[in-house]
Amino acid sequence: MSGSKVWAPADLLGPDLPCASCAGQAPMFDDVVAGESLEGREARLACAVRVCGRCPVFAECRALLAELPAAATGVWAGVVIEDGRARRRMSRA
Ligand code: SF4
Repeated sequence: MSGSKVWAPADLLGPDLPCASCAGQAPMFDDVVAGESLEGREARLACAVRVCGRCPVFAECRALLAELPAAATGVWAGVVIEDGRARRRMSRA
């Protein structure tokens, strides 16, 4: 682990997403967390997607999704972004 600060999407986008549910919730939204099992990672990402599903600024965040840099990873607007460009959507249930 690098020890560097981790950020949830709202922490990065700040004023563009007021009231975002992920504010202060890092590393739940990170692509990879050091020492985490595959099962633990999948459960964590599913939780993050569920948080997105209840987020009051989901629509605004989804609109920003297309503008994310290729290096962005993790959960954004209910979408899991892996390896920079590969993306998958998880159920919001
Ligand atoms: S939709 Fe998800 S990633 Fe986007 S601001 Fe809300 S909680 Fe954060």
